[in-house]
Amino acid sequence: MNAVLMNCPNGHGKMEIRNTRKKMTFRDINIIIPSEHYACPVCNLEASTVDQTGAVQRAISDTYRKAVNLLTGKEIIEKRKNLKLTQEALAKKMNVGIASIKRWEGGTIQSKSMDLALRIALEGKSSGDSYTGNRSFSIQRIKLVLTQFEHLLGRRILKKNDKMLFAAKYLWYADMVAHRETGESMTGSTYAALPYGPQLNNYKDLIDDIMKANEMRVEPLSAEEKRIMNRIAMKFPRDRMVYDAAHKETIWKKEARGAIIPYTNSDQLTGI
Ligand SMILES: [Zn+2]
Repeated sequence: MNAVLMNCPNGHGKMEIRNTRKKMTFRDINIIIPSEHYACPVCNLEASTVDQTGAVQRAISDTYRKAVNLLTGKEIIEKRKNLKLTQEALAKKMNVGIASIKRWEGGTIQSKSMDLALRIALEGKSSGDSYTGNRSFSIQRIKLVLTQFEHLLGRRILKKNDKMLFAAKYLWYADMVAHRETGESMTGSTYAALPYGPQLNNYKDLIDDIMKANEMRVEPLSAEEKRIMNRIAMKFPRDRMVYDAAHKETIWKKEARGAIIPYTNSDQLTGI
């Protein structure tokens, strides 16, 4: 902690540091966190430095994360350093922006699916291929598949501000059906079961890169992949159709909110 000495604004001279434990409820979880602040021994006025406030925020976040079995900021930093990874290297490994790593280490609470991705990257936990469908993740391939769908459907589906609501459903079907029928996905993407259907994991961090990606600089679509996409486009010519079909899939419905939908369930698809 810093050595700033605070004076009481009421003119009582130097304030003293007090360490207490605060009981509080955070996101419906009861937690107790250590809290350090200044207090005036005369009038009891309390004040905190910026550092003290930050430490309390981090303590709340980490205590909560521990309670709900998410990696804490401290654990993320420790595991990352053990692997001698920079924040940048970890971001690359996970296909997320470096800002996300900084936020999680600094106290922002990661989603369940991002926690799993962190554990895979930091604990060498094998994702099996069930999260990527036996293929390396490729942003260019995502762009390639979406571009092909736009060609087949005769309209734009990749839009910046619609949360990929429909584009992700087409993509999901393409990846899942390809996995079921060829043994590997088309893009290596991981999908999370979100309230509004299967979603490209971490799409918020990926969308800009997808828009900018050069789809010509990647392995072209095979004849088999093109046939699969053709069937999907024929079956679901309208956005609403692919959206409704995805919502009827048991393999999405049975996963907890935010959980990863494994490719190993691709044989249970019913929409196509
Ligand atoms: Zn005072």
